[in-house]
Amino acid sequence: MHCQVLIAGGGTGGITLASWLRRLAPELDVTVVEPSSSHDYQSGWVLVAGGFVPMAETERSEASVMPEGVRWICSKVVAFDPEQHAVELIDGQRITYGVLVVALGLDLLWSAVDGLPAALGRHGVCSIYSRRFAMYTRDCLRRFQGGTALFTQPATAIKCGGAPQKIMHIADQQFKRRSGVGVKSRLIFCTAKSNLFPVPAFSEAMGAIAAAHGSEVRFRHDLVAVNGPERRAVFRVREQEGGQSHELELGFDLLHVVPPMAAPRVVAESPLAVNPTEGWVEVDPHSGQHLRYPDVFAIGDVGSFPTSKTAAAVRLQAPVVAANVQAVLQGRSVQGGYDGYSACPLITTDHSVMMVEFDYTKKPVSSFLVDPVKERWFAWLLERWGFPWIYWNRMLKAQPHEGAYLKPFTGLARRLGLMRWQR
Ligand SMILES: Cc1cc2nc3c(=O)[nH]c(=O)nc-3n(C[C@H](O)[C@H](O)[C@H](O)COP(=O)(O)OP(=O)(O)OC[C@H]3O[C@@H](n4cnc5c(N)ncnc54)[C@H](O)[C@@H]3O)c2cc1C
Repeated sequence: MHCQVLIAGGGTGGITLASWLRRLAPELDVTVVEPSSSHDYQSGWVLVAGGFVPMAETERSEASVMPEGVRWICSKVVAFDPEQHAVELIDGQRITYGVLVVALGLDLLWSAVDGLPAALGRHGVCSIYSRRFAMYTRDCLRRFQGGTALFTQPATAIKCGGAPQKIMHIADQQFKRRSGVGVKSRLIFCTAKSNLFPVPAFSEAMGAIAAAHGSEVRFRHDLVAVNGPERRAVFRVREQEGGQSHELELGFDLLHVVPPMAAPRVVAESPLAVNPTEGWVEVDPHSGQHLRYPDVFAIGDVGSFPTSKTAAAVRLQAPVVAANVQAVLQGRSVQGGYDGYSACPLITTDHSVMMVEFDYTKKPVSSFLVDPVKERWFAWLLERWGFPWIYWNRMLKAQPHEGAYLKPFTGLARRLGLMRWQR
């Protein structure tokens, strides 16, 4: 089988890109390979765990989000052969392509933490990083009777770098509301990193928010083992970056785990990877084009884009990658254009969110005419009602980012030096 454009993966990146290709070049023959029959709005799992939305609001059938005119092969890619411009599927079928776009997301490495797979979903060990355990997380928050609640973040790159803190703030608010009936809680955020966020201005603001809530933050604490029945978690702790490490055991009544994450194995073991240990697809950070195979692109979490892995990043990568796919098919040169934009709205209470938008400059930027380093009510409304609607009705349907409509005003404001953070 041969197709003009083959998209491996029909999650957020694969579907958004397929829509942009239909919009920019409806004559193209586009095929998506995706094994799952359902499509998730993963950002919504935090809202589910907080009890703000039912799980059903975060899921639709894959068929319903597949753009019209796009062929869907319900299967799994098991090998990439870029020298032969081909991929192999799990049933042995080989598909050759004119252009390949890799959109496989990333792998969650639950078993990299000793004892975690056996403990998850029981003994108060929960996670918003999976559809199944998001519901259990909600139940754990509701049933919490007081004690120590640990929230972890691993050393690896993760999707949505703010999500591990969002769930802590939601829990904190719920527990404090029950303090009148004797629920006394101690919340500890244990991160393997040396900061709370890769953008210094946000990291500082996040530290201040945690301190204001009375939550403890511990840096360079990497979760390595969990004993569910005894409710004990083991961390590898470094006093300073690159220094000696020692083990520390902490007891818990609730443990929220964010597992280590890595590039999908099928990519890491292929010639598309930067190298087998850093297995992301090796792309130009501005165009999404592979650095060694010009007929290969990546979008979303699987790409080596040096920015946070989010759906917001996908939203701005998609039109650039779609235009470049078209350029390669027509023998034109590709254009950069993606500036590393990513966003990870940080829920801090059930009525406030810090917008957390940034780009490759690692400085805060804003799409909404406001300082993004502040907690705001309107941002909560966007997070709770706006973004889910935008995801299903605009992003997956290749509608431009809302910030684009404000560009004439924000551009002018920036030129006049009125709003230094405007995009
Ligand atoms: C708890 C949580 C909170 C988040 N919060 C936010 C947020 O607030 N803001 C934000 O912008 N983003 C957020 N994100 C991140 C966002 O959901 C991801 O960055 C986004 O989904 C990435 O899109 P993707 O296409 O790269 O990967 P995915 O959407 O994960 O899609 C990958 C697809 O590839 C398919 N696949 C895997 N292996 C194969 C294979 N071998 N062959 C074929 N198909 C395969 C999978 O089935 C999947 O459908 C959050 C994520 C989580 C989990």
